[in-house]
Amino acid sequence: MRLIMMGPPGAGKGTQAKFVAEHFGIPAISTGDIFRANVSEGTPLGIEAKRYMDAGDYVPDEVTNLMVRNRIDEEDAEPGFLLDGYPRTLAQVEELDGMIKFTGHSLDAVVVLTVDADEIVERLLQRAQVEGRADDTEDVIRKRQEIYAEQTEPLIEVYRARGILIEVDGMGEVAEVTQRIFEALDVVTQS
Ligand code: ADP
Repeated sequence: MRLIMMGPPGAGKGTQAKFVAEHFGIPAISTGDIFRANVSEGTPLGIEAKRYMDAGDYVPDEVTNLMVRNRIDEEDAEPGFLLDGYPRTLAQVEELDGMIKFTGHSLDAVVVLTVDADEIVERLLQRAQVEGRADDTEDVIRKRQEIYAEQTEPLIEVYRARGILIEVDGMGEVAEVTQRIFEALDVVTQS
């Protein structure tokens, strides 16, 4: 099973990605989590990524692509994986296509969580209080939303055209959203 979880910042991708990955027995690979781990360990990758993340910008494609390639090459990702937060640009889509093709597999589905923009800002500001993420201030959140709309939203049409897009309403209780995703994915796995 090779899946992508997409959605604007704060859509709940990370939360849902963990449930879905666990269900299918595959690793959830979150580029945001990998960057944050590198930032807290002070690795060269972390030092480079932090500049962009704190400003709400995307980390350059070359850096992100290489990191994902290395992660996907690990043994636990051989049976499949769920990507959370990647791809985010058209260049990353192409790069991922190459990586998957090389393994002789294909992408099964792209799940997009749709949410209300105002609700999201509130959720993220709340998360800022709980987790204290440096990029969860109101200005940076808005910047991340703009960049998402500009650079990542167009990917939805790319995957829709391939017939692998699944849009799921991301509003409501976490468990409800999980249930919707599972129902939508069953359709894919049974066909
Ligand atoms: P969110 O989806 O809430 O914005 P993430 O944890 O997925 O948060 O990502 C946090 C930050 O990490 C992004 O704002 C960006 O700077 C960086 N990042 C994560 N994934 C990518 C990616 N695929 N390409 C470029 N930058 C990325």
